[in-house]
Amino acid sequence: ESPVLRKPDWLKIPIRRGNNLAYVEDLLKDSTLNTVCQEANCPNRMECYSNKTATFMILGSVCTRGCRFCNVHGGKPQCVDNEEPVKLAEAVHALGLKFAVVTSVTRDDLEDGGASHFAKVIREVHALEPRVGIEVLIPDFQGNKDALITVLDAQPEILNHNVETVPSLYSLVRPEADYQQSLQLLSRVKQIDDSIYTKSGMMLGLGETEEEIFVVLEDLRRANVDFLTMGQYLAPSKEHLRVKKYISPDTFDRYRDTALNMGFKGAACAPFVRSSYNAASMLEALKA
Ligand code: SF4
Ligand code: SF4
Repeated sequence: ESPVLRKPDWLKIPIRRGNNLAYVEDLLKDSTLNTVCQEANCPNRMECYSNKTATFMILGSVCTRGCRFCNVHGGKPQCVDNEEPVKLAEAVHALGLKFAVVTSVTRDDLEDGGASHFAKVIREVHALEPRVGIEVLIPDFQGNKDALITVLDAQPEILNHNVETVPSLYSLVRPEADYQQSLQLLSRVKQIDDSIYTKSGMMLGLGETEEEIFVVLEDLRRANVDFLTMGQYLAPSKEHLRVKKYISPDTFDRYRDTALNMGFKGAACAPFVRSSYNAASMLEALKA
């Protein structure tokens, strides 16, 4: 095992608290909906809630996979709540969100991997709040193209699927996933419907080299990915993979500049960036 590294100062930022945070958390407390924001105790909550953005986790909170960086519990998956799409749309309305990110645990136990449930959520939110943008952050559906088509037919604004790390680390970091399958999913989106934006991202600090990072960026551009996120991997507990390296904010800035030069339409690269961080802003910047 590698040694435990000391956290650098740029990662010791206190979580800001404020009215918006309390309001959103109160509203969500009584509902059966899961948000990644709360469950992951995400440090960006103030900022995202102020920008009227939140990330919902659908299809339960138990995952059929066991990625070694992730805090979601594995085990026997829960029943699908057929009321969830309507409840989620109502929460989006009640919170006055402008943008909603919708993600799920991986449901390899469901025939379509949960694609039809994603589609229902998109349709319900758009039916109640036509102006709310939706980003779906989807699992790989085990390469099932029909499942992807089901999601795209419901017209999300952004289709996000993370490659998470460089291919040489897949067996260590996400042993049940396949890098080429993830790239194929992303490149299929534009072939199926080129009006939908695509997005992907990586966590850094797991032992990847800079050269490997740039190869991934090239692969993503070849797959016509529009938006990129890169953030620092932080181990959720001692049982998870250890951080191999803390990447400095300056290095993240350099990666962002490289990404934009390579043709990404937007890139959020900084230590605290998460896949759903400030999701709406890249889209807004593009439309401005
Ligand atoms: Fe976590 Fe997703 Fe991996 Fe499941 S598939 S363990 S939710 S990262
Ligand atoms: Fe929620 Fe994502 Fe923002 Fe964190 S970065 S608060 S998970 S929307």
